[in-house]
Amino acid sequence: MDEGTSRRTVLGAATIGLAATAVPAAGQAAGTNTAMLRDPQSKYRRAPFPEQRQPWPALASKMTPRPDHGETSYKGSGRLTGRKALITGGDSGIGRAAAIAFAREGADVAINYLPQEEPDAREVIALIRQAGRKAVAIPGDIRTLAFCERLVASAARQLGGLDLLVNNAAYQQSKADISEISDEQFDQTFKTNVYATFRISKAAVPLMPPGSAIINTISVNSYDPGEELIDYAATKGALLILTKGLAKQLIKKGIRVNAVAPGPIWTPLQVAGGQLPGKMGEFGQDTPMGRAGQPAELAPLYVLLASEEASYSTGTVVGANGGRGNP
Ligand code: NAD
Ligand code: MG
Repeated sequence: MDEGTSRRTVLGAATIGLAATAVPAAGQAAGTNTAMLRDPQSKYRRAPFPEQRQPWPALASKMTPRPDHGETSYKGSGRLTGRKALITGGDSGIGRAAAIAFAREGADVAINYLPQEEPDAREVIALIRQAGRKAVAIPGDIRTLAFCERLVASAARQLGGLDLLVNNAAYQQSKADISEISDEQFDQTFKTNVYATFRISKAAVPLMPPGSAIINTISVNSYDPGEELIDYAATKGALLILTKGLAKQLIKKGIRVNAVAPGPIWTPLQVAGGQLPGKMGEFGQDTPMGRAGQPAELAPLYVLLASEEASYSTGTVVGANGGRGNP
């Protein structure tokens, strides 16, 4: 768990540290309060995860251990005050971490998820409300054009506008051989990951004022495909190019388009067929950091790309991969 390493506390500590440089404490570099720093290698669980399997789409609340989405740690500092955000896959994993962070930074947040994920979604809605922000729940399957259009219209109506879109929902199934990938799986992977990102973005753009931001969740697989994830990796490669191309086009409307590329992150997607059977214990172990990441560790990247502070960044990708992979 992350206790006390928020940006604000670190900055605050740095200020206190500077004020105290006249008499540096033992074991402290001048001006640095090392007590506030955490070694990222040991900040979260390093031990292999226990083998487990849930039917698709899995629930975060039934995972062992439960992922850390920043529920008790993320501290906002008004960086997204008054913003209106739609996040797909906002019920769990990386999308939930972004939803919690956005709300604590002052944004009203609509989340989309599948109806079966209602228990996870309820937790997120409660957390957004605890942050004092408006929370909008819009369950539904993003694999059809009609629902994608309804989703955007409903989010904008209930939020009173839309200036922040996170295309984060995805389908991922690991298969060792191409012969095991059914046409249905291939279709579902592309419909969820690529078509929905295109359709939701297309519906959202006319509603988004200059200064708005779109953030797509891509992957290390966008650059270097896992051999057991060829269909998923192909969608993530497509999303990388979609991000870069759309950025060139939409900057003329004042809208920035960027992406976050995670490495192995402990989320429901991984326990619902995202990994090959028997491989859970290896998950994240081969990164230089020696562990998988937690959704909470990605939230600040979404906040940064969403914030107007990052106004010169468009068509770019930020990674979070424990030292292995691109960008
Ligand atoms: P997750 O299971 O928490 O999130 C995926 C979400 O996608 C689900 O919660 C679900 O609400 C949504 N979804 C899937 N199919 C849908 C459909 N047909 N209609 C509506 N919603 C649907 O897992 P996560 O790992 O947090 O995934 C978030 C993003 O991160 C995905 O784009 C994934 O590809 C990406 N990613 C994850 C990892 C990782 O290791 N976990 C690595 C790289 C990229
Ligand atoms: Mg989920």
